[in-house]
Amino acid sequence: MSAQMADLRVLVIDDEGFMRKLIAMQLRALGCKSVLCFESGEVALDALSNGGLDINLIVCDLQMPTVDGIEVIRRLGSLGFQGSVILASGECQRTVKMAEKLAHAHGLKLLGALQKPVQPDQLKWLLDKMGGHCTTEPRKPRAAHQVAASDLAHAIESGQLINHYQPKVCTRTGQVVGMEALVRWCHPEHGLIYPDAFIGVAEENDLINRLTEAVIAGPHGALQHVKQWTAAGLNLHVAVNISMDNLHDLSFPDQLARHAEEAGVGLGHLVLEITESRLNTDVLSLTDILTRLRLKRLRLSIDDFGTGYSSLAQLHDLPFDELKIDRRFVHKAHQDSALNSILEASVNMAHNMDMTTTGEGVETVEDWLHLQRKGCDLAQGYWIAKPMPPERVIHWVSEWRERIAELPGLEVSA
Ligand code: C2E
Ligand code: CA
Ligand code: CA
Repeated sequence: MSAQMADLRVLVIDDEGFMRKLIAMQLRALGCKSVLCFESGEVALDALSNGGLDINLIVCDLQMPTVDGIEVIRRLGSLGFQGSVILASGECQRTVKMAEKLAHAHGLKLLGALQKPVQPDQLKWLLDKMGGHCTTEPRKPRAAHQVAASDLAHAIESGQLINHYQPKVCTRTGQVVGMEALVRWCHPEHGLIYPDAFIGVAEENDLINRLTEAVIAGPHGALQHVKQWTAAGLNLHVAVNISMDNLHDLSFPDQLARHAEEAGVGLGHLVLEITESRLNTDVLSLTDILTRLRLKRLRLSIDDFGTGYSSLAQLHDLPFDELKIDRRFVHKAHQDSALNSILEASVNMAHNMDMTTTGEGVETVEDWLHLQRKGCDLAQGYWIAKPMPPERVIHWVSEWRERIAELPGLEVSA
């Protein structure tokens, strides 16, 4: 075995005991004499930042509780870790690729990613890439940025914000797959106020995190509603609109996980919708947080697609599961060839990137039939249902089931 292998001082971070042992065993078999194992990223990072460990290779699992692999990557970057890094993961290729990009962006010397369970020849191949020395470019540290704001703050705290829900329906089967939460302010004097009047105010006045928290996790929030629907036998996901400002808070994924656990709802029930027009801000921290959300099994959706200026390359790089085509390319697309071309191209592009497509703004049966013909997976719009209060949802689903029995072109009645 080469002297170089014998010189390696390896740190393995993996919460699964079996995996830790397996990787350590394989490293030793390859001639590494010094292999340390940690089951938690937090403990490993503490030890590294105290300067108590002299390590030149880290093999890190991506999916771990509390401090996950993405956070380890970020913190290794800010510690200026000079050694090499190998990621080990059972995640899908796209998620792993995102993590690899992040590691590079944080200035880490990434040897590559290993698919779990780790094969010895894969590991050896990556170690061979190490060469004689480890160089890393140090990274710049990263920094974070009228309806009366005081009235809005009071409304959030006193529970005046309520969610209405608009269904998302499968165009092939007619099945209701989810509900999108749309926030309204139930004002004691002015009645129902729509989000366009206050989301901007919340964003500008540092209230958006509290607002989003109320929409998702408040006593009348989306998690409580999805729980009630599940109890009533409806398997629905709930989609929530997220402001880009929510994603500046790196603790957002952990907060969501905590709220979901408290509510007893799996995070797989949540979809976060992010408006396309704001995707091109700080791509690095966006990639960090989106990848971590995805590791927690949340689904991510690009909202209002077609209204922003994201490049195809950018969309390909970000880990989205769903593309929502803006209503301006859906409504009347059947009678306008320019709109139709955009619609078709968006559906095809999303499918090529393994994303689900949703057409917004289905206002007529012609819009619905057109989406069905074009292979757009899901539909949403006034023709299916206008946003409704949560207590109407269960009844609406049974009405819809009767309605679709008469709809043309459906494969199965749900
Ligand atoms: P959006 O996410 O694009 O939501 C869809 C909007 O289109 C909703 O307006 C809905 O009522 C409307 N809509 C649905 N179907 C049709 C249709 O067939 N035709 C037409 N013309 N319109 C339709 P709404 O509820 O006024 O929401 C406006 C926007 O406010 C939303 O746009 C979303 O971006 C934002 N928003 C809503 N709730 C929240 C929230 O909790 N947080 C954040 N950050 N933004 C929110
Ligand atoms: Ca939306
Ligand atoms: Ca939208």
